[in-house]
Amino acid sequence: SVRIGVLALQGDVREHVAALAACGAEAVPVRRESELDAVDGLVIPGGESTAMSRLLGVFELYDPLVKRLRDGLPAYGSCAGMIMLASKILDTRPDARHLDALDVTVRRNAFGRQVESFETDLSFAGITDRPGERPVRAVFIRAPWVEETGPGVQVLATVDRGPAAGRVVAVRQGNVLATSFHPEVTGDVRVHEFFVDMVATA
Ligand code: GLN
Repeated sequence: SVRIGVLALQGDVREHVAALAACGAEAVPVRRESELDAVDGLVIPGGESTAMSRLLGVFELYDPLVKRLRDGLPAYGSCAGMIMLASKILDTRPDARHLDALDVTVRRNAFGRQVESFETDLSFAGITDRPGERPVRAVFIRAPWVEETGPGVQVLATVDRGPAAGRVVAVRQGNVLATSFHPEVTGDVRVHEFFVDMVATA
């Protein structure tokens, strides 16, 4: 089975470990470089991206992680994790560092006050387009959205109703997957399964 790390500096680490384990992966928290070296893929959880950015420096993980991502480490970022993986962030703090592994521009806290936290059903390419699959329930918690995508980036899901209709909320570029929303809180592990398959076939 594949060994997948969950970056465990901050955020909802346990939920991702449980979801990955439910998919049959070996799931381990990652706080140090030696732990990062030992995984085949990495989940960057939701939380708070400017805090996570600072902690990557404190734990001396920023440079090793950038290097592993450049070498093709499969990665999945949810919410703050999407922000961390992106190449350009709108509305963040000027000193916040990110990992530049996904050629997208994301807007932090994009959904604004009215819809700061909301849920909706989504079609998700590669999951809900298989026969008999129900929609993916997406939970957004002060979530970012993707404002621009580079040429190698595949859009996997957009919001299809409400004030945010049309907004891009799931993308993939090669070995890197990102969602604005939190699949780890719904008990539906299909997005994690999708990532485990990415890691297994990378
Ligand atoms: N708003 C948070 C940030 O900017 C992300 C929220 C989340 O991960 N649920 O990092």
